[in-house]
Amino acid sequence: MKDFSRQSFLGSQAQEMLARTRVAIAGLGGGGSHIAQQLAHVGVGEIRLIDPDAIEVSNLNRLVGATEADVDNCTPKVEIARRMILGIRPWIKVSAAQKKWQEADYLIKDSHVVFGCLDGYQQRDYLETAARRYCIPYIDIGMDVTEVARETFAVAGQMIMTRPSGPCMRCLGFITNERVNAEENRYGDAGANPQVVWTNGTLASLAVGAFIKLVTPWFGVKEPYSWLELDGNAQTVTPSRQPKYMPQNAKCPHHSGPEDLGDPFFSLRTAFAV
Ligand SMILES: [Zn+2]
Repeated sequence: MKDFSRQSFLGSQAQEMLARTRVAIAGLGGGGSHIAQQLAHVGVGEIRLIDPDAIEVSNLNRLVGATEADVDNCTPKVEIARRMILGIRPWIKVSAAQKKWQEADYLIKDSHVVFGCLDGYQQRDYLETAARRYCIPYIDIGMDVTEVARETFAVAGQMIMTRPSGPCMRCLGFITNERVNAEENRYGDAGANPQVVWTNGTLASLAVGAFIKLVTPWFGVKEPYSWLELDGNAQTVTPSRQPKYMPQNAKCPHHSGPEDLGDPFFSLRTAFAV
């Protein structure tokens, strides 16, 4: 049952290419579960799922594919995603690791694209580093809710796609030492992390769109990066005006690249003592 006629505009070979594509998703929460669902519909041939956590009752407001029975059974998030993917297209090859992504390097290193749906700047910085060392494009989503005035909340998010040959999230100015340090200092009272299904869904759709542009012939121009910002209050998506990257600085100074031999996970394992 492989009728993809409604997306045949992607190119005559697009479906075969998608069927041969391996993707890894790190983080199967609100954003990652949406991405997993869409990749199954689109017909990606191999999907690797990485998340150490089981579902909690507070996740049910946004975890696509999850049920109250999963909450009762403490089902791992990767198993909820696996069930959903195979329910849509049983022929998709699904691998799942209920682990931190640093412990699942075997699922990342020969993927064609890595999706990062992680909390925190530090984790995303590390995951992008790993992706670039393996020459893999990286697609990141995240959302925030901030109290801009008393009981007035701003919902915002972003989707960033970076390619190993282009600027990284540090080149673009999204990851900064100030942000990473502020996050470390805030950890003690991190508390609730507001997340909602419709914003996650928008960001996941932007991420899957960026993926389709990357891997199918549909979109002729392969952009060096994409950074789209979602204003959740106004419900608008616009290209970020923040990038510090200038084309003449084409060589990213933050990552050594694939010419650096060795296992990038060695230092990550040491850093995390995993
Ligand atoms: Zn860089």
